[in-house]
Amino acid sequence: MRDAVKKICARFGDDYWLKRDNDGRFPEAFYRALAADGWLGVCISQDFGGSGLGVSDAAIMMETIAASGAGFSGASAVHMNIFGLNPVAVYGTEAQKKRMLPPIAAGKEKACFAVTESNAGLETGKLQTRAERRGDIYLVNGAKIWISTAQVADKMLILVRTTPVEKVRKPTDGLSLFYTALDRRHVEVRAIDKMGRHAVDSNQMFIDGLQVPAEDRIGEEDRGFEYILHGMNPERILIAAEAIGLGRAALRRAATYAKERVVFDRPIGKNQAIQHPLAECWMELEAAELMVRKAAWQYDQGIPCGPAANAAKYLGAEAGFKACQTAVMTHGGYGYAKEYHVERYLRESMIPRIAPVSPQLILCFIAEKVLGLPKSY
Ligand SMILES: Cc1cc2nc3c(=O)[nH]c(=O)nc-3n(C[C@H](O)[C@H](O)[C@H](O)COP(=O)(O)OP(=O)(O)OC[C@H]3O[C@@H](n4cnc5c(N)ncnc54)[C@H](O)[C@@H]3O)c2cc1C
Repeated sequence: MRDAVKKICARFGDDYWLKRDNDGRFPEAFYRALAADGWLGVCISQDFGGSGLGVSDAAIMMETIAASGAGFSGASAVHMNIFGLNPVAVYGTEAQKKRMLPPIAAGKEKACFAVTESNAGLETGKLQTRAERRGDIYLVNGAKIWISTAQVADKMLILVRTTPVEKVRKPTDGLSLFYTALDRRHVEVRAIDKMGRHAVDSNQMFIDGLQVPAEDRIGEEDRGFEYILHGMNPERILIAAEAIGLGRAALRRAATYAKERVVFDRPIGKNQAIQHPLAECWMELEAAELMVRKAAWQYDQGIPCGPAANAAKYLGAEAGFKACQTAVMTHGGYGYAKEYHVERYLRESMIPRIAPVSPQLILCFIAEKVLGLPKSY
């Protein structure tokens, strides 16, 4: 699997990704190449046009993509196809699966995932975007933020409030999940000028009178949060794998440069002060990968994987970031030049640290759920 994905990625070298980062255009050719060889449906059931493989396989694929130098520009371009529609696969009706999954597996449609809102942040129970039932449709009004790929998406998986927070037992009740057309007559998508990964947009979304057919609701009304919770662990595992891949791309460049760059009449890589941080990064990336493997195996076996998935995301993101930062420092001044690519990696390595959940909230989760400490937030 690694070899096959590597072969496709080899057609899209670092210069391709630098160009996409500079011009901010979606990496359509790369997306098409993976679609053509059937990779976008890797986790989607064979009944709906996919390969029916597990998260363990998808993690290898995503790690390989990122490690090729595609980093998060490449990984985020296809991330949603790989596991994003998991709530549809698990909670959708047969008719919904038949309608929604094949175009995503074939790469004929792109989708975005719209959860975050500016006033809610990590506190999902505070979501305010409303969907009101009117016969056979829901009328949706509100705003989302940070929604990746919304510039190019045909569809969106969106979490909105269907019952006011005052009327539910706990704030995360009363939310519903829809997979529906991103109808630009009623949804304004405004790109956020951001630090990195310019090839894959992130956006503000303003939703005004969007009519969503009731048949686009996934599962029962008011239970949407439960459904997205199910997909959160695999998403964390994949993000961790992507971060590790990016760290490995950085480490590869750093080690090559350290062998070639001669200062004080010897390669800089002959100095332990250059060697040791790189060796440390290698070990941390390897260790994080083992946690990814454990979490992915647990998920694929149907064993609860919350602690391992969260730990994998934390460790993978931190190890990836450290490798990128170390790679820039190994390059000295040249690390700051776009031509050497590691500055782009460093900018991208911030994403898995922040999203989809912050390191602080993962520490809170482990403290509470694993160590039995009082809930702190
Ligand atoms: C590049 C990018 C792409 C994204 N793509 C998507 C997407 O496609 N779809 C989507 O829905 N969202 C997306 N997001 C949003 C992302 O999931 C959120 O940014 C993330 O969940 C954090 O939310 P926030 O930014 O509102 O942080 P906040 O909730 O405002 O938190 C800010 C800081 O405070 C800390 N904090 C808050 N409460 C506590 C506490 N009790 N204890 C300790 N620390 C605390 C947090 O850890 C964090 O460091 C994306 C974000 C980025 C940057």
